[in-house]
Amino acid sequence: KGGHVVIIGGGAGGTIVAKYLRKADPSIQVTLVEKNADYYTCFMSNEVLGGDRTIDSLKFGYDALAKQGVEIVTEEATAIDPTAKTVTTSGGKTLKYDRLVVSPGISLVYEGIEGYSKEVAEKIPHAWKAGAQTTLLRGQLEAMKDGGVVIVTSPPNPYRCPPGPYERVSQIAHYLKKHKPKSKVLLLDAKDSFPKQGLFIQGWTKLYGYGTDKSLIQWLPAAEQGKVVRVDASDMSVYAGDLEDKHTADVINVIPPQKAGKIAIDSGLTDATGWCPVDKRTFESTLHKDVYVIGDAAITEMPKSAYSANSQAKVCVAAIVTSLQGKEMIEPSYVNTCYSIVGEDYGISVAAIFKYKEGALASVEGAGGVTPSDASADHLRREVLYAHSWFKNITVDMFS
Ligand code: FAD
Repeated sequence: KGGHVVIIGGGAGGTIVAKYLRKADPSIQVTLVEKNADYYTCFMSNEVLGGDRTIDSLKFGYDALAKQGVEIVTEEATAIDPTAKTVTTSGGKTLKYDRLVVSPGISLVYEGIEGYSKEVAEKIPHAWKAGAQTTLLRGQLEAMKDGGVVIVTSPPNPYRCPPGPYERVSQIAHYLKKHKPKSKVLLLDAKDSFPKQGLFIQGWTKLYGYGTDKSLIQWLPAAEQGKVVRVDASDMSVYAGDLEDKHTADVINVIPPQKAGKIAIDSGLTDATGWCPVDKRTFESTLHKDVYVIGDAAITEMPKSAYSANSQAKVCVAAIVTSLQGKEMIEPSYVNTCYSIVGEDYGISVAAIFKYKEGALASVEGAGGVTPSDASADHLRREVLYAHSWFKNITVDMFS
């Protein structure tokens, strides 16, 4: 009697919608369409690259959600018909919905970098979707000789996990420092600045000799010819900047430009930006009625993080339940925190509360903040504990 809600994508956004809809109103029928039987979290995958965590510790499944009455369809959603209100799947199912939630994450814009493709990513991984790609990159780092060069390329805004490339470079340096101290990591950036920049650079200076000629990390911003435009897998090189400066390396990690997940694009949920515009009070698409887009695929003032997706999912549940019950939706607020583990006993974070106001999400002044630049060693150590505790909490929230 409560209606049928179909969810596409069993990641940070979709699992939370499934679980909390069942909790909010057990009369609602919930179907989760997820193409993979296992989910590997991207969050904490940089620690796998750094060597402090196994890939198996990132792996989760959908049994607990099934036990809570969520119907799991392990197939790919291949089409959405917003007029007939149906979703078609790769196994030939047609699912009729009253409300649809789309949380498919990102698609990688391989064409954004000449010479890069899905095939080349088997040699030059992106590792921006966790699992086999993470294992591939980790294996390459392990196989590299001491004295080798690792290149990481950072994409233009907006993209999944804004501090992620910088945490990644930190974790690679953490590994090199311990096991291959004559090596270095070169970060080629499509931008001139990045989140928590001052704190990252402080950490790099302290832990990895940043700024000296012995530094394990070198960062080239766009203004210094850092923007990679082409890769050549045959001689393991990249070309960057207007001058197309050539850099060669032993290991290359290209993090390509991004846009919303393919199903969102194919079904007309994206605008010219490549992302999905939504009503920021409910996360209902502004392009298709009764379809909600949350997580990385949606475009708002919030950073694209699992924490944001979790917060958006809970607001979306409230919006769906109130709309199905014919009640009025509240004015929501949202929360996000991004932790980054810079090295041993060295964590940093940024937190913000976003409040819906006149069609936009404004961060509430005084309600967030970053790790202080004069934080004590004990404070920085505790930030790592908070990061691990957050990981435990969010994965329990999603998968149990
Ligand atoms: P996802 O979690 O990617 O879920 C999408 C799901 O949809 C996937 O399981 C996919 O298989 C499925 N899917 C897609 N299309 C279809 C289809 N057509 N049919 C069926 N299924 C489909 N965030 C944080 O908050 N904290 C962190 O510390 C953090 N660290 C990160 C580190 C790295 C290296 C990276 C890459 C990301 C990190 N993130 C972090 C970001 C976080 O992973 C994403 O923001 C989050 O996963 C977004 O959730 P989502 O639901 O939008 O997408």
